[in-house]
Parts: sequence; structure tokens; C-alpha cells
Amino acid sequence: MSDYKPTIGIEIHVQLATKSKMFCTCDNDSVTAAPNTNICPICLAYPGTLPLPNAQAVQLAIRLGYGLNARIRETTKFDRKNYFYPDNPKGYQITQFDQPIVEEGYVEIFVDGEFHRVRVERAHLEEDAGKLTHPAGKDYSLVDLNRAGTPLLEIVSYPDMHSPYAARRYLEEVYAIATTLGVTHGDMQHGNMKFDLNVSVSKDDSLGTRTELKNLNSFRNAERALVYEIARQIEVLENGGVIEQETRGFDDAKGKTFSQRSKEEAHDYRYFPEPDIPPIVVTEAMHEKEADIKSIPLPIAIRRELVELGLSVDEQDVLIKQKNTSQFFAEARKLVGEKGERKLVNWLVGEYQAWIKQQTAGDDADSFVATSITTPFTPQQLADLIALELSGDISSSQAKQIFAEICASSNSPAEIMQRLGIEQISDEGALAEIIEKIVAANPQAVADYKAGQAKALGFFVGQVMKETKGQANPQVVNKLIQEKLS
Ligand SMILES: [Zn+2]
Repeated sequence: MSDYKPTIGIEIHVQLATKSKMFCTCDNDSVTAAPNTNICPICLAYPGTLPLPNAQAVQLAIRLGYGLNARIRETTKFDRKNYFYPDNPKGYQITQFDQPIVEEGYVEIFVDGEFHRVRVERAHLEEDAGKLTHPAGKDYSLVDLNRAGTPLLEIVSYPDMHSPYAARRYLEEVYAIATTLGVTHGDMQHGNMKFDLNVSVSKDDSLGTRTELKNLNSFRNAERALVYEIARQIEVLENGGVIEQETRGFDDAKGKTFSQRSKEEAHDYRYFPEPDIPPIVVTEAMHEKEADIKSIPLPIAIRRELVELGLSVDEQDVLIKQKNTSQFFAEARKLVGEKGERKLVNWLVGEYQAWIKQQTAGDDADSFVATSITTPFTPQQLADLIALELSGDISSSQAKQIFAEICASSNSPAEIMQRLGIEQISDEGALAEIIEKIVAANPQAVADYKAGQAKALGFFVGQVMKETKGQANPQVVNKLIQEKLS
């Protein structure tokens, strides 16, 4: 079974974060609008109306082109893709056929401890269609054209991925790039990013017949759908069958893909140049508008740093996917220095994530909900806490207590320590007295220590901590016990 190699290529539709639609002045945000209220004669394609390309959409496409390490065409044009469907008021879609604005780029993904390149063939601008709903038990369907004319950038990869996990990493990476650059709002729940997955399996280097999994909108489901589909194809082949080239959907509840339409029903779209829109020349000035991109830390650059720091993939993901946490980490790192870095990571991917989960009532991590959460403390406050930990002025359980209070109150660690009466006993005289008693009561442990058993030291430190209810400064205790027993 496992000698089959899967090959995956992906088309991603990214909804661009423009103010208005692709070819008219309708609002590009229909989330709260009643059906068919955010429309105009242009996006409804009334006779005599003319589409006018959205300059901001073109600009965002250039921007994402840079993020995809791609080439931006000097001249780009729009084309008509002809098909009839009730959610498509024009009877055709304005898209880009042979001169896409973005060509030949790549995205780097981190899989199995290594960086891999997934090549991007092209990315083109186009408009979205409306939305059909089919009320249960009714003999009619409803159409909402608010979404018609929404600007999309479709990113087409080469078939460079060979596992469902790699495909997911690619999707997440493109998402991270597009949101970092502000090209999309990245609202997955409202379909800001949707993908079609082309997958085939083969025993040798030739490509098998592929199926297309259409309209996935969550990273997790994309991975699940691929796992299922690859196993299905292998099973068909192992049983002597052939893979049909077809479009398949994914049933989320059942975790299975199902046939939607076969190749025989494929459309001939009769593409031709859009006669109402002249070709667009991408000028130097348009490139210059994206010059700021050089100073923006892209997700892959951050990941390289985190890999070098020795962080696990899960730790990297938290610090990359959560934009605010990522920025916070970059600032706090400067304050804590090399010595505090590990502790900083631990706080941000440990306790802080637990706190976020509480705030968001455990929302699906797939939706990257945490990206919108503002860190409830400042880099300086967390750096102060880490400094207290490193100096041994507070114990780890005290640090946790203080951290919880920082999250709740946004007070500084010093203020919280004062309020909670957290104080460490660092007074050598007081501690020496306690140590004296413990040493006298445990002659066997003293003998063990003198016989070279290092863990006897830990026993004494533990006893002092118990006696002082955890308030003793462990470093001072350590020092005093060693002095006492030497
Ligand atoms: Zn409109």
C-alpha cells in the first residue's frame, strides 16, 4: 500500500481586503448585509454598464506577488470565462486567462525538520460569484448576489506536495503570508480563503489520474480530505480499478470525499479577452508603493529564527500564527536577552495559550481566532517577571501566580507581589536557623550527602521549601546548605 506516492497541487482563492468590489463601488464587506442589498447595476451586469478595475485590488495582488517571491507581469489583462449558473449574473466571470498579474514564485514550508519549496505557477485576479442556498424540503433555491463581484486572487501551485501534511503547511503558510501583508482579512469563517486540491497517486515518477477536491475552507478539513482521498485512490487501484478524473466534494461530518461531476461534464469556457477593460500596465510607481514589504518580517523569516533557537514546530506555529504574540515575542526578546529567551517562549506558548483558550471558550484553533486577541500585558511586564525568576527572587509557583494576576489586572509584577504579599525569604540568618534544625533531624541524609550522593542536597532544599511554604529563595538555600554540610 505505502509504495504509492501522492502528488498534490492546490488552487487557493484569497478574498482581497479592498474597500469596494472588483469592478464597482459596492462595499466589499457583506457579512452583516441583508441578502441582495449590497449590489448595483454593474455587479448585476445590467446591459450598458461597464466594469472598472479596482486599483486597490491590483495593488494588493502585486503585494502578495512579492510575498510569494514571484514575478509581476508588466502588462496584464482580463478575460471572460463563459458559463451559465444561477449565482453568476453576468453569464461569464471576469478573470485572467493567459496574462495573470503574478507568475512563477514559490512558498517555503517547513516539513520533517527541513525547508521545502512549493512552486507557484501563477496568481490571477478575478471576481467571486453570488451564493446559492437550497432550503431543506423546498422545491426552490435562493440566490444572494451580495458576494458577486468580490475581488479574489487565485493562487495556483505546481504539484509539488507529496503528503496531506505538506499540503496543510502550504495552505497555512500562504495564509500567514497574506494576512501578514494585510492582503486579506483572513476571516476563514466567512470564506476569505477557499481551496481546491488536486491529488493523484502513483507507484513511479509518472503522475496518476487526478481528482479535484473542491471548495474546502479549513486547513484541518483540507488535510482530512486528502488523507481520505489518497487512501480511496490506492484502494481503487489495488482492487484493479481505475481512477476517474472527476470533481469531488468533502463531507465534513462523515470525513469522506464524494463524487460531484465527472470530466465528461467539464465545461468549455470559451475564454476571450474582456472587451470592456483595456490591458493594465504595472508601473514603477505601483511597485514602489510596496517598498515597505522589505521591512516586514515575513512568517518564513521568523520561522528560520525560531528553528535556530531550537523551538519545536508547535512552538514555532504559536509564535508565527498569532500575529500579536509574534510581535510581542520580537519586542520582549530584546528585553529578556539570550538568558531569558527559553522562559519567554515557555510563558507565551504555555500559560499564555491556556489563558487565551479561557478567553475564547476553546474556539477552533483552525480559525486563528487568537490572532485578534490583544496581549493583556506589556513586554516589559513579562520581562520583569522573567528577571525575577532568573534571579531566583521568586519560585516557579509564585511566578505562575503572578502571571495569572498580570493577565487579569495588567499590573506590574512588583505591584502584584506587594498586593499578594509575595516575598522571598532571602535573609541568610533566618534561613540558616531553619537549615540547622533540618540537618539535625536528618543524620542519614547528611551521611548520604557526605558519601557523595548529590540528590541528598535536593532533599534538604525541598525540606526548607516545605518549612517556609515555598517562600525561601532557592539559590540562597542551596548555598547555605552546601556551606553547612561541607
Ligand atoms: Zn456593485
